[in-house]
Amino acid sequence: MAQQANLGYLRYMEGQDEQHLRQLTLARDLQEAAARQQLSLVYQPKIAAAGGELVSFEALMRWRHPELGFIAPDEFIALAERSGFIGRLTQWMLHTVCRQLADWQRQGQCVNVAINLSAQDVVDPGLPGMVRQALDEHGLDAGRLALEVTESAIIQDPTLARTMLGELCDSGLHIAIDDYGTGYSSLSQLKSLPVRELKIDKSFILKLDQQSDDRIIVRSTIELGHNLGLEVVAEGVETLASRELLTALGCDYLQGYLISRPLPAEQVLDWIDTYRR
Ligand code: C2E
Ligand code: CA
Ligand code: CA
Ligand code: CA
Repeated sequence: MAQQANLGYLRYMEGQDEQHLRQLTLARDLQEAAARQQLSLVYQPKIAAAGGELVSFEALMRWRHPELGFIAPDEFIALAERSGFIGRLTQWMLHTVCRQLADWQRQGQCVNVAINLSAQDVVDPGLPGMVRQALDEHGLDAGRLALEVTESAIIQDPTLARTMLGELCDSGLHIAIDDYGTGYSSLSQLKSLPVRELKIDKSFILKLDQQSDDRIIVRSTIELGHNLGLEVVAEGVETLASRELLTALGCDYLQGYLISRPLPAEQVLDWIDTYRR
């Protein structure tokens, strides 16, 4: 019995070792990933619920590791945060997005893009300057970029987050609260932020057409957002039934596989053409 338990424990330790080794490898390689052209961005459209017009795209990061293949951003972003170099990834992402926007603009498409910020970005005093520099360098209007920030990122240091986001908002960037409903922010905290949009987390949306609990939560979130003067977005819209429900509930914008999966940059203009036709 004791021996069996030991064996189990050893296997558990081995598993831990493997996991630990993977983390170490990834943390080491991620630092070189941008320089080695292993990072890329994909773009997922957001549309108006009522009329279906294309509104903007969200940029999402991808990392293709030479041996381990695609690593999910949920894994490598968390790793970069823990290892303290998320700022460098954010900087790479900002410049890549702005270069892409300028490129699309030269091809006659004025696209707006939202980027995701991590908790550490939000409290980095260098962020507003970094954003303005990236925009200036590519001759872009601040209104072309929106920022998505999670509730939990703001909660860590609400005062500093408010200052930073306020500065960015004054420069003309729109700010959205991402993954809304998964954190513990109070309304009063959100109200004092220069936020334009609430993005309901996809965990409430994915099974919307089957679960009445989710419907109640989503309905009241939309109402709440509108009462606060915010626009409301649903992410994770996978079915026509959910789309219809959300539209009926007055949700402003939709995003999800039903509309499109995130697209590699080189497919975006073709997608826009086909979508508008
Ligand atoms: P997020 O910002 O909440 O992004 C939405 C995630 O849902 C994306 O996963 C997207 O691919 C996925 N998704 C979109 N539509 C659907 C749908 O209809 N059904 C389902 N099941 N999923 C859908 P992804 O790309 O794996 O990104 C995961 C998270 O990683 C993001 O969540 C975001 O928090 C983080 N992330 C991604 N790129 C960046 C980045 O450049 N910087 C930072 N700081 N975080 C990023
Ligand atoms: Ca997001
Ligand atoms: Ca989200
Ligand atoms: Ca998320």
